[in-house]
Amino acid sequence: MKRRYFLLILLSVAAFTLSGQYSLPKLSYDYNALEPFFDEPTMKIHYNNHHGAYVKNLNAALVKYPELAEKSLEELLGSLNEIPENIRVTVRNNGGGHYNHTLFWTLLAPPETTKISPRLERILKENFGSIEVFKTEFEKAALSRFGSGWVWLIVEEGSGKLKIVTTPNQDSPVMSGFENKGKPVLALDLWEHAYYLKYQYKRADYVKAFWNVVNWNEVERLLNA
Ligand code: MN
Repeated sequence: MKRRYFLLILLSVAAFTLSGQYSLPKLSYDYNALEPFFDEPTMKIHYNNHHGAYVKNLNAALVKYPELAEKSLEELLGSLNEIPENIRVTVRNNGGGHYNHTLFWTLLAPPETTKISPRLERILKENFGSIEVFKTEFEKAALSRFGSGWVWLIVEEGSGKLKIVTTPNQDSPVMSGFENKGKPVLALDLWEHAYYLKYQYKRADYVKAFWNVVNWNEVERLLNA
């Protein structure tokens, strides 16, 4: 093998080892695509700095545990009690952060580009009575979550029913130990970093604005998956 190719391969391997297995997912829209509801500066900082930090910290925590690196993120979060104690909180916070944000970005779309299909409308009506009631309940849950966390629409494990639940910090309904375990189909970040630049203390305005940028196609796809 030519020496310079050998060096190139060696460098790639080193770069992979240093960067770890997790990375920021590509966004399917520009930072300014969700304006005026989700503003460009917030999107840039939220994606690069906040989500970026979760990825970096998660990779750093797993460096010494190659056997854990073979598990999927969902497996890791679903069996937190099996994770070595010295990295458990780090994996919970940063693995949770990576999982939640990766899902969150896919649940957003530029305004006016998706809408609730008749089928999805029927499902929401069956579970909540009407779309209006569903939205009101979701908003109420978002405002009742004290401090940082997330509000979710999940398909509850076991019952298969749609439920609105909230979690603190970067916890999620896929985590072991969560009393309302289920599959998330809609999520909203309630951390101040998600809205403070544009909405300051007005979380209610941010939650209302969210309805303009929900990717309803993805919600329905997750429901069917
Ligand atoms: Mn966030």
